[in-house]
Amino acid sequence: MESKNWIGGEWITPSGEVRPVQNPSDTAEEVGLIHLSDQSHVRTAAEAAKAAFPKWSALSGAARGECLYQMAAVLAQHSEELAQLASREMGKPISEMRGEVTRGVHLLRYYAAEGMRSDGSLIPSADRDVLQYSKRVPLGVVGIITPWNFPVAIPIWKIAPALICGNTVIWKPAENGSLTATRLAELFATTSLPPGVINLVIGKGREIGGTLLNEAAVQAISFTGSSATGRVVAETCARRNIKYQTEMGGKNAAVVLRDADLKRAVPAILSGAFRSAGQKCTATSRIIVERTIYLAFVEHLQQAAEAVKVAPALDEAAYLGPVASAEQYDKVGGYAAIARREADLVWEKPVPQELAGRGYYINPLIVTGVAAHHSLVQEEIFGPLAVVLQADDFAEAIQLCNQSVYGLSASLFTQDLSRAFQFLEKAEAGMVRVNQETAGVEYQAPFGGMKQSGSYAREQGQAALDFYSQLKTCAIKHSF
Ligand code: NAD
Repeated sequence: MESKNWIGGEWITPSGEVRPVQNPSDTAEEVGLIHLSDQSHVRTAAEAAKAAFPKWSALSGAARGECLYQMAAVLAQHSEELAQLASREMGKPISEMRGEVTRGVHLLRYYAAEGMRSDGSLIPSADRDVLQYSKRVPLGVVGIITPWNFPVAIPIWKIAPALICGNTVIWKPAENGSLTATRLAELFATTSLPPGVINLVIGKGREIGGTLLNEAAVQAISFTGSSATGRVVAETCARRNIKYQTEMGGKNAAVVLRDADLKRAVPAILSGAFRSAGQKCTATSRIIVERTIYLAFVEHLQQAAEAVKVAPALDEAAYLGPVASAEQYDKVGGYAAIARREADLVWEKPVPQELAGRGYYINPLIVTGVAAHHSLVQEEIFGPLAVVLQADDFAEAIQLCNQSVYGLSASLFTQDLSRAFQFLEKAEAGMVRVNQETAGVEYQAPFGGMKQSGSYAREQGQAALDFYSQLKTCAIKHSF
C-alpha cells in the first residue's frame, strides 16, 4: 500500500521524499510507503476546499447527512480490512482497533442525523412585528490535524461534525497514520461526497501542518496532539484570528478509596493504563491509592495482571501490543529507565522472549516510591508505565489528583455516594468518572480537557457542532 493525497476529488502522489512504513509489531515487515507532500499540495488543497464550499454549504442538512450515512455504510463494509491495516501501521491490538472503527461508523451516523435537527433558536423580540432567530452557519474551510494514536476515530470525530455543519475540510493526518488515512479517503471517495469537500494531504508535521496553520486560507483549525504542538497551533490561530480547538496531553489519575471494590477497580485500572500500550490521551498514568488499602491493592493487582498479555497487534489475544514507532520506543524507554533507577517496582510483565527485539515492545510497568513532583508523576509518558502514589485520606487523594498541569480525565473508585459526588465536583478534569476507567468516554458526550489538556472547545456530542459553526442572529420586521 502507498499513501497518496486526495485533493479536489483527484488522487495525487507527491513526487518528493518517500518513506517506508515498518510494522511496529515486527519491524522486518514493510507495510507500505508514504509519499510526503510539499507545501504546494496544501495550497492546492486549500483552493479545492474553497471551491467546493459554496455548493456543499448550500445543500440541505438532509442531503449532507445522506453523504455521511454513505460514508458510515462503506466504512462498516470495510471495517475489518481497515482495522487490520491500522493495527499493522501503528500497532494497536486488533480487538481494540475493531472497536475504534465501529466508533467511527457510529460517529458518522450520529452526525448524519444532525442534518435533520434544529440548528438555531427562536428569540423573542421587544417589537411584536419582528421575528428574531439565531441559526448555525458554517465557518468555511476547516484544517484538521490529527495524531496517530486513534487513526480512524479522531479524524472522523472531527470530519463528520465539520461536514454536517456545511464546512469543507483539509485533513493532515500524522505521518504514522498516513496509510490508514489514505485507505479511509479511498473508501469515502466511493460515496457521493462531492470533489473537494474532503482534501487529504499527507506529510510532515512542521512542514505540511505548519503550512496549513500559517498560510492556508482556513477559517478554523481542529488539532489533536501533544501539548507542545498544541501551543504553537493556538498561538498561530490567535494571531490569524481563526477559530481553533486544541486537544492535547493528559496525565490522568485513577483514585482508589479504601471502600473500593478492588475486584472490579483493579481490572479497570489495568485497562486504562495498558490497553493501546498506554498510548491514549485518557490513559491512566497515575494511580492514587488510600494508604490503608495499599497492600490489598497490590495483591489484587498482581492477580489481575495475569490477564495482561503482550503480543503482536494482530494477535486476537493481545492485551497490549508494541508502542507505535521507534520514536515512541526511545521516549517511553527513557522513562522506563528513570523508573528503574529512581522508583520502586510494583509490577512488571516482561515482553515474551520471542518478541524482544522484533518490534517496539516495552514491558508494562507499575512503580511507586517517587514524590508527587517527580517527572514520572508530572510528565505525560504516553506508554505502558503507571505510577502509584499513596494518600492518607480522601482530601489528600483529591489534592494529588489535581496536582498536575493537565486536566483531561480522572476516575474515582468507591462505594461511597457522597465521596463520588464530591470527586465529580472537585476533580479538575474535563471528563470525570466514578467506578469506570479514565478512558472510554462515549461519542455522544462532550470530550476534552481542562488546564493544559485543551483549549476550552469540546469535541464529539453536540459540543462539536458549536465548534464547527458560528451563530448568525437574524431579525425581520414583517409589518413594514
Ligand atoms: P504531535 O503533536 O507530535 O502531532 C500531532 C499532529 O500534529 C500530527 O499530525 C503532526 O504531524 C502535526 N504536527 C506536528 N508538528 C506540527 C507543527 N509544527 N505544525 C502543525 N502540525 C504539526 O502528537 P502525536 O505524537 O501525533 O500524538 C500524541 C499526543 O496526542 C499525546 O500528547 C496525546 O496525549 C495527544 N492526544 C490528545 C488527545 C485529546 O483528545 N486530548 C487525543 C489523542 C492524542
